Amino acid sequence: MPQKKPIKKPSKPKKAPVRAKAAALAPPAAPLAAVSKPPEVLQPVKGMRDILPGEESLWYLIKKKAEELVRAFGYGAIETPILEHKALFVRGVGETTDLVHKEMYCFKDQGGDEVCLRPEGTAAICRAYINHGMLNLPQPVKLWYFGPFFRREKPQSGRYRQFHQWSVEVIGDAHPVLDAEVISVAMAFFHELELPVVVEVNSIGCQQCRNAYKEELLKFYHPKQELLCETCKVRLQANRLRLLDCKEAQCELLKEGAPQITDFLCEACREHFMRVLEYLEETSIAYTLNPYIVRGLDYYNRTVFEIFSGAEPQKAAPAQPAAPTQGEGVEMAPEQPEGEKAAAGRIALGGGGRYDGLVEQLGGRPTPAVGFSLGLERIATYLKASGKLSGMPPTARIFIAQLGEAARRKALSLWHALYRDVPVAAALSKDGLKAQLEIANRLAVRYAIIIGQKEVLDQTAIIRDMEAGIQEVVDYNKVIPEIKKKLGV
Ligand code: AMP
Repeated sequence: MPQKKPIKKPSKPKKAPVRAKAAALAPPAAPLAAVSKPPEVLQPVKGMRDILPGEESLWYLIKKKAEELVRAFGYGAIETPILEHKALFVRGVGETTDLVHKEMYCFKDQGGDEVCLRPEGTAAICRAYINHGMLNLPQPVKLWYFGPFFRREKPQSGRYRQFHQWSVEVIGDAHPVLDAEVISVAMAFFHELELPVVVEVNSIGCQQCRNAYKEELLKFYHPKQELLCETCKVRLQANRLRLLDCKEAQCELLKEGAPQITDFLCEACREHFMRVLEYLEETSIAYTLNPYIVRGLDYYNRTVFEIFSGAEPQKAAPAQPAAPTQGEGVEMAPEQPEGEKAAAGRIALGGGGRYDGLVEQLGGRPTPAVGFSLGLERIATYLKASGKLSGMPPTARIFIAQLGEAARRKALSLWHALYRDVPVAAALSKDGLKAQLEIANRLAVRYAIIIGQKEVLDQTAIIRDMEAGIQEVVDYNKVIPEIKKKLGV
């Protein structure tokens, strides 16, 4: 007979000691190292920076002036993506340019597409012009935009890996008056900001002019090539025009005596350039000819220009209807390379030019165009140094202080009732009146409106003149008209 197994009484679970229970409920202990070492504070990517409120108010002023101006001139705003296909810039800007060759932030996305953070804006605008059939609109199409751009250059003062530009593009017309128009818009912008600038102009002609000129450059540089910097040795073969705006001392020295492109312009390009200069005369823009401005990107042709900080030169003499060579017609600049090292203390604020072949190169119909880009960081630096800051964003003119929960609620609704007429500040989370009035003082507001428990009960408010230290009690319903009267709004 099988023996019956004795039924085992389930053993009583042992009572866990109280301390063990608490330990079980507690979250798992962090490794010792993590407790003792706070997480590393991350910095922005090298060459990229945060723009904080103090600096941002300069940007507000710059963008406001820029936007008002282009809207008044009838330009339309456009926004294009920050990420584009790499091919856009390879085809549009040129594979041998430093920009495409060395400076783009490119990666393959998860779908295997080769994309880039945009290093410049014009190629994407031309892409959008083609994509959206803008050739069917009345020509030229005039566009403007602000935006961030990305170039992996050597970071230095005024040169970042993420920077911002304000740009204008006029697409669909080859008339030389449009070259003068865009230059005049850029100059009007600096005039509005009361910043003295100089614009240096040049013509790099068409492909034919440049082919002849490049031959001459080769003849000039070939015997001296050992004296060039390493980059320019390569440029002599791959991108010869860029020899002229190299900032290395030995290359700048060599450039003296180099042939000038304006001596190689064909009849049509010379005629175009002379007309641009004549139109500039018409708008009283004082310009300087600089035969060594070439711009770094392959798409430029004919008119090119750069804008630098500095005192405006004397109004140029009228351009002569002859070839614009050194010393003729207008004041000649000393030889000035492009870029921030151009001359002691000068800031390269922006530049532009014609790009008559770009739309076609990107698959559109032959469509001439002209535009400019200005660097917002550099303009902000120049504006700050100039101290000409009228038109900065409005700052608070009154402060609402409150004491007690009922007053806090009233202060919140008063704030909403006032802000459209007067910029207002408050520190609603604060409890003490002293702390609030200290903030009001720091903000340098003229008046503080104070609401305490008594004022809530009495349906009144105190208006305190922060300069004179005098205060008066007013009927709560009259506080808004009273404060507006005092501020003259
Ligand atoms: P570009 O598109 O190279 O013709 O540049 C036009 C303007 O943008 C320059 O004159 C600068 O004011 C500004 N800019 C260009 N590159 C940078 C950069 N890396 N950092 C800051 N500003 C820049």
